[in-house]
Amino acid sequence: MADIQKPEHRTASCQCGTVSLELTGKPIVAATCYCHSCQTAGHAFEALPGAPPVVGADGGTPYLLMRKDRLTWRSGSDQLAEHRLTPDSPTRRFVATCCHSPIALEFTKGHWLSVYSDRIAADERPAAEMRTIVGDRPEGVELPDDIPNYPAPTGRFLWRLLTAWAAMGFRAPPIEMTKGYAR
Ligand SMILES: [Zn+2]
Ligand SMILES: [Zn+2]
Repeated sequence: MADIQKPEHRTASCQCGTVSLELTGKPIVAATCYCHSCQTAGHAFEALPGAPPVVGADGGTPYLLMRKDRLTWRSGSDQLAEHRLTPDSPTRRFVATCCHSPIALEFTKGHWLSVYSDRIAADERPAAEMRTIVGDRPEGVELPDDIPNYPAPTGRFLWRLLTAWAAMGFRAPPIEMTKGYAR
């Protein structure tokens, strides 16, 4: 009998459950980012009333990078607000206004969306495969060498992004916020 593999399915939800984003298929990569922007934005979100913890004790924020064409907003997309660290930043973060949970980070020109891993149920959450931009980590933090620690977004990280983009025909579909679907 043929062993039919079930396609991977995950759901990222805000803390109160109003916003849910469905993730279909294999993630591009699971990576924890230590860059200054992720720390600054994460700490700003954490300061909002009732917000969940975002940045780890070591300064890292875990993400699951997904192709934009493998994401579907299942509910609550009208509750999302976008947050940019500076008005002209090419990077924006989607935050659920119902409970101040950050859901995902988008480099607007990119073909992927970085979903905050903490928003995915623990039993569905893939472990981080690498750490990126570790040079920005808080002073005094020692990182274990259990997975690669990249000082810059290079090497295997960029290779994964590139091969995913090639599989998408080198297109970067815009993420559609208002219709309830991310293409
Ligand atoms: Zn919520
Ligand atoms: Zn970062």
